[in-house]
Amino acid sequence: MSKSTLKAGVVTGNGYKTLVEAAKSGGYALPAVNVTGTNTINAVMEAAAKANSDIIIQLSNTGGQFFAGKGLKDAFAAKVMGSVAAAQHAHLLAEHYGICVAMHTDHANRSLIPWIEALLDEGEKYYEAHGRPLYSSHMLDLSADPIDFNLGECARILERMAKIDMSLEIELGVTGGEEDGIGSDFEGGADNSKLYTQPEDVLRAYELLNPIGHFSVAASFGNVHGVYKPGNVKLRPEILKNSQALVEKTCGTGHNPLNLVFHGGSGSEKAKIHEAVSYGVFKMNIDTDTQFAFSQPVGKFVKEHARAFEFQIDPDDGTPYKKQYDPRSYLRLGEEGIVARLQEACDDLGSQGRSIAAS
Ligand SMILES: [Zn+2]
Repeated sequence: MSKSTLKAGVVTGNGYKTLVEAAKSGGYALPAVNVTGTNTINAVMEAAAKANSDIIIQLSNTGGQFFAGKGLKDAFAAKVMGSVAAAQHAHLLAEHYGICVAMHTDHANRSLIPWIEALLDEGEKYYEAHGRPLYSSHMLDLSADPIDFNLGECARILERMAKIDMSLEIELGVTGGEEDGIGSDFEGGADNSKLYTQPEDVLRAYELLNPIGHFSVAASFGNVHGVYKPGNVKLRPEILKNSQALVEKTCGTGHNPLNLVFHGGSGSEKAKIHEAVSYGVFKMNIDTDTQFAFSQPVGKFVKEHARAFEFQIDPDDGTPYKKQYDPRSYLRLGEEGIVARLQEACDDLGSQGRSIAAS
C-alpha cells in the first residue's frame, strides 16, 4: 500500500501522478464524476469527503457550456469559459473538503480539438501565473478516426500539455452506447471486434506517448456509454490484462505499466469492476447514474409538494409555500442524492477510506 500523502485540494503534475500510482498500487480506482454546475461540483466533493476518498471531477464540453450559462450566444466561448470557471471553483474550494481532487475534461472528438486547444491557452496562462495548470488532465477521443490520426494528434497535444505538467487521456477502440450512436443494435455485440481494443494498438500508443509525457488509456472491453439492458454486451476485462502484459513484456517495464480508465461504467457488474481495477484501472467514469441520483429525489419532492410548484400561496387555505419552492429545498435533495450514490461508487471501486490527503 502506498504511504504517499498530498496536500488536500486540486492535484496536478507530480501530485496527479502520485494519486494515480497510489490507486494502482493500492488496488482501488477513483470515481470520475461529470458535473454541470456548482451544485453538482459541491455534491461530488461532499461525497468524497464523506467517503474519505479522493475523487475526479469531470467536465464535458456541454457541461462546460452549461456551467457558463446556456444564455451565452457564443457557444464555443461558453464551452471554454465555463470549463475554466468550473476548474477555478474547484481550485478555490477543494482543499476545504479535505480530499484530493483531480480535474479532468471528458470526451473530445475530432471536432472538439479546438476546445481542448483553447483550454490549453487558458491552462498555459494559469500556469504562468500560479505555477500549476488549471486541469490535471484533458481527454482526446479520436477512436472513431484511423489510429494513425488518433495517435498523431495525441502525441502533438501531449507535447504541449507535458510542458505545463498535464496528463492526457486517450481512447482506443470504440466504446458503444447511446452517446456515440455506435453499437446501438448489439446483436452479436460480443463478436464485434470494434467493441474491443487490440492490445497491439495499446502497445503502439505506449511506445509513442510514454517518452513524451504522462497519459492514460480508455480501452474498450465491451463497455458501453449510458445504460443498457444487462446481457447484451459481454465485458471482457482480460483485454486490459493482455494489454498490460504485452507492454510489460515488450518494453521491459514493471507490473501494470498502463494507467487504464473504465468508460461507460454505469450499471456494470461489481465482479467485472473489481477485475478491471486489478488490471490497473485507476479511474471509472460515472455520469448516467449520478444524473438519476440527482433527479430522482427532486421528482419525488415535486410530486409530494405539487401545489407549491403551482401557487406561491394556496388559493384555498392561504398556506404559504415559500419554503418548498425555494430552489435550495429541492436542489439540496438532488445534492444529497449524488452524495448517497457516490458512497456506493467509492465502495465498489475500493476508494472508500483511502484518501491520501494529509490530514
Ligand atoms: Zn469513452
